[in-house]
Amino acid sequence: MTAPAASTVLVDETDPAYPAATRPHTSSVTQHPARVAVITSAADLTVALEAVAELEHSTGRRLRVVPQASGHGAGAPVDEGTVIFDTSALTKVSIDPDARVAVVGAGVTWSDVNAAAEKHGLLGLAGSSPSVAVSGYTFGGGIGWMTRRNGLASSSLRAVHYVDGSGQQRTARDDADEELDREAIWAFRGAGGVGIAHTLEFDLVPAPNLHAGALLWPVDALPELVEAWAAALPELGASVSSSLSVLHVPPLPTFPAELRGRPALHLAIADPDGPEGARPLLDALSAVAQPLLNTWGPTDAAGLARIHLDPPVATPAIGDARWLGASTPGIAEALFSEALADDAAVVMVEVRHLAGAPLSRRGGAVVDPPGDFIFHAVGSLDLFPRERIDATFARLRSVWSAVDAGTTPGSWIEGAAGVPNALPPAHLERAIAAAQAVDPLHRLQRSRLLG
Ligand SMILES: Cc1cc2nc3c(=O)[nH]c(=O)nc-3n(C[C@H](O)[C@H](O)[C@H](O)COP(=O)(O)OP(=O)(O)OC[C@H]3O[C@@H](n4cnc5c(N)ncnc54)[C@H](O)[C@@H]3O)c2cc1C
Repeated sequence: MTAPAASTVLVDETDPAYPAATRPHTSSVTQHPARVAVITSAADLTVALEAVAELEHSTGRRLRVVPQASGHGAGAPVDEGTVIFDTSALTKVSIDPDARVAVVGAGVTWSDVNAAAEKHGLLGLAGSSPSVAVSGYTFGGGIGWMTRRNGLASSSLRAVHYVDGSGQQRTARDDADEELDREAIWAFRGAGGVGIAHTLEFDLVPAPNLHAGALLWPVDALPELVEAWAAALPELGASVSSSLSVLHVPPLPTFPAELRGRPALHLAIADPDGPEGARPLLDALSAVAQPLLNTWGPTDAAGLARIHLDPPVATPAIGDARWLGASTPGIAEALFSEALADDAAVVMVEVRHLAGAPLSRRGGAVVDPPGDFIFHAVGSLDLFPRERIDATFARLRSVWSAVDAGTTPGSWIEGAAGVPNALPPAHLERAIAAAQAVDPLHRLQRSRLLG
């Protein structure tokens, strides 16, 4: 069969598929690629790569290929020198409940995976937002609400079916015949990935008694609440994951009137094994002050995906983040105070608790949390100029640097073009070598994690 002409595979801005593919969820950058390829099958990837080569030949212009599912990870420049491969139509989900394995298309969102998995009492290791796609999330490490019980999503990744830079169909797995594919699965587990994936295979975990919730307090009692949180953390059950943040509450009717448009202290907390493990923390905080919003209770995957109160619509977010060490509770109040300063230009400053996560039984670039906590801050270009957001990040950095664990959670820097220090030097070198082996001609624009 002859491949379709480039013009039928790659569309330009006059085609309705173009605006749909170039409106990333993280809208702090605008995307204007030369063409868009709408990928609906594994074979489409090979055909579309051939079409890009044909277009390069006919125009004499070099083009780089950017895979994109949801655009939550947008930030690297996507301009006239690029072609977006829109993988958002790769949404097939197949669950093997006995083996506890999901086989899914690379464009599928976590909400679709977990809606299918929970019918069997199982869940994938999703993060805070239902609309994040499995690919970029898992390839960036994947830190979610079951990390303290089950580890990072990267450690659950069994295999990735992908194409290399020349369009050849390949499978990355630990027992692959070729070293290139064994190195590729290592890089797919936390170094942002190499090649272009069309199908992922990963482990699911049981969630026999899922409890989760969002709790909000006014910030008046912040010092006492943070003190109680720090004291109760060691008492938490091993399957409880949580985050504490200062959140500027949107002025929406879904929030208590007293908190709308104001900063609040926000606890997001989840346990797939029932209510007992979280009790020491919830009791300690309630003894200080009753929350004005409390959704804690039995829930489903959709409820779990609401506890972090992530924006459901595209947002021009700018983020900063860092892995932090065990002494983080000691600086939490100072971090939150910076977030409450009159000139602070952030919508959220969070501390995610991940201490005690089990070590991965699989190898990969980032398969174990490199710190006990994560610091994460987000500003919005809708509300603040970039310089003010950066100045706030700098003030926050001067606080968290005292407990720095040394690397950055690479996919948590919303809107960034590149992320230095996402990998330790030896891992960065190995990931770059894997990417080079998969794509010697550098046709694919590699994840920003790889610099
Ligand atoms: C609101 C929000 C909430 C978030 N919550 C969490 C969280 O709880 N935990 C967490 O760990 N992260 C979280 N993130 C970060 C998120 O994991 C990253 O933004 C991730 O890159 C999103 O993956 P995606 O595929 O949806 O995004 P995309 O922007 O579509 O892709 C991001 C990158 O992934 C790679 N990629 C995507 N598809 C493919 C493919 N088919 N083949 C090869 N490479 C591919 C590419 O390098 C691409 O640039 C959140 C982000 C946002 C905006």
